[in-house]
Amino acid sequence: MATQCAAPAHFKAELAQTAAAIVAPGKGILAADESTGTIGKRFSAISLENVEENRRAYRDLLFSAGPELKNYLGGVILYEETLFQKDASGKPFADVLREQGIIVGIKVDMGVVVLPGTDGETTTQGLDGMAERCAKYYKAGARFAKWRSVLKISKTCPTQLAITENANVLARYAAICQSQGLVPIVEPEILMDGDHDLAKAVQVTEDVIAACYAALSLHHIFLEGSLLKPNMVCPGQDCPTKYTPAQIGEATATVLRRTVPAAVPGITFLSGGQSEEEATIHLNEINRYPGPKPWSLTFSYGRALQATVIKTWAGKPENVKAAQQALLVRAKANSEACVGKYAGSGAGAAASESLYVKDYKY
Ligand code: 13P
Repeated sequence: MATQCAAPAHFKAELAQTAAAIVAPGKGILAADESTGTIGKRFSAISLENVEENRRAYRDLLFSAGPELKNYLGGVILYEETLFQKDASGKPFADVLREQGIIVGIKVDMGVVVLPGTDGETTTQGLDGMAERCAKYYKAGARFAKWRSVLKISKTCPTQLAITENANVLARYAAICQSQGLVPIVEPEILMDGDHDLAKAVQVTEDVIAACYAALSLHHIFLEGSLLKPNMVCPGQDCPTKYTPAQIGEATATVLRRTVPAAVPGITFLSGGQSEEEATIHLNEINRYPGPKPWSLTFSYGRALQATVIKTWAGKPENVKAAQQALLVRAKANSEACVGKYAGSGAGAAASESLYVKDYKY
């Protein structure tokens, strides 16, 4: 066995256990880590003021949705502010989740910045002081982390510079997380913006994920204690050709088989602007595609778990129960999809609405 490893010996078993528990059969992740700016956009759609108490009340609604929630969620990703907030009875949210057996995650990146000299391509910042922040988050109960890199497809993008730089920064982030006992979720998101076809999405996603695993290997990442959060392999939003869910399932499973080592316990997809129902159906098809799947293939959705919830809530206490019910419906549907057994229980008009936003910032 290699002696060089980003994960210290005393954390290795725990890291592997945490990663495996998050993606246990039938379980996925709720990404509730919208930054203050992003949640503000969601609130403005329901004419709700973006103040700390409203953000707290909304997260309280999510985390107390009901006893079934723990059957569907292995983890929840929080924004830093939420990690240190409490529910209405004064219990820290970290404890509210841990008592349900749901593992607490934390967004540790500080957003994207443009790479000068490129056509608006970006890298992600937040490495400075990150080890100290991770130690603080671990103490507060967090056991995994997320860092989002963003790539885009156009005639000239992604450039090799963007691919290499983002793979390297993801690997640096992953190494720091593991040194502090946090399971890193490695998220190289390729946006759906553009009119490219499915074959192009296959080629670019393959190049990007392969570069990530080359960098993770170079940085001695303990893969058993890590997770990958990729986009599903879909055509561009403006692609004139339509593809079936089975074709998306085949393209996605094929790319992952070619690039993700079997030591990685789980692949937790972002929803990326797909409608709630589309994201569920595609996850189901990925799992149903025949052939070897050495990792758990599950969800780590933000928009595709929360769109109907926020709309139903509308910031009104009398709607909390109905909004929680909406979360349980989506979480259950995705729990079924991540074992390839979704039969349409979450279908409905609202769930089919596109959640695509051009040049999306999380
Ligand atoms: P979406 O599912 O809304 O794409 O967000 C997931 C996420 O965590 C993006 O970083």
